[in-house]
Amino acid sequence: MTPPRPSPKGEGKNLLIFLAKKVDPCKNCHSDIQADASLCFHCGAVQNVTDVVECEQHAGEPAVGVCVLCGKPACGDCAVSVGGKFFCENPQHQELFKQWAVVHESDFEFESDMIQRNIAAAEIQTKVFSFRSYLGTMWLKEWKPVRVLVPREQFSQATDLLQNLRLLNEQKDDNHGRHSDAE
Ligand SMILES: [Zn+2]
Ligand SMILES: [Zn+2]
Ligand SMILES: [Zn+2]
Repeated sequence: MTPPRPSPKGEGKNLLIFLAKKVDPCKNCHSDIQADASLCFHCGAVQNVTDVVECEQHAGEPAVGVCVLCGKPACGDCAVSVGGKFFCENPQHQELFKQWAVVHESDFEFESDMIQRNIAAAEIQTKVFSFRSYLGTMWLKEWKPVRVLVPREQFSQATDLLQNLRLLNEQKDDNHGRHSDAE
């Protein structure tokens, strides 16, 4: 006689509750982000946090956002807002953000190096940006700080490549609000 087992239905329910983390709208772009997130990675806006991160250029000034490309914290005076997203004072970063797409995110530079080498081997250009250099890991919490970018026109080629190598992230673009789908 087989012992009674919890119904698969019940298990699914528990799993769903576990996955459905609390989300709140970003106070800048209103995208769904995790309720305790320090930053909105859709737009770079600093959320309500107790630790204040300082502007990289103006010591003592609290950052209002971080550059969505490089992660550099910027205060109200030097942050550039384009289409509701924050950028640092480097004008190249606005251009790069338009022309390049994040193909992979990771917690560690060695992982990104490996991804970058694989993509470069297929003669696709890459750039790596690490938010960690500015924010450390404490601030980033659930977000992966090291990002590999490829030109938008080579994005699908790069994702296919990573897929074939089984190196693709579960999510790889500007879709951090996915938790809300579980509700
Ligand atoms: Zn936002
Ligand atoms: Zn930047
Ligand atoms: Zn500043």
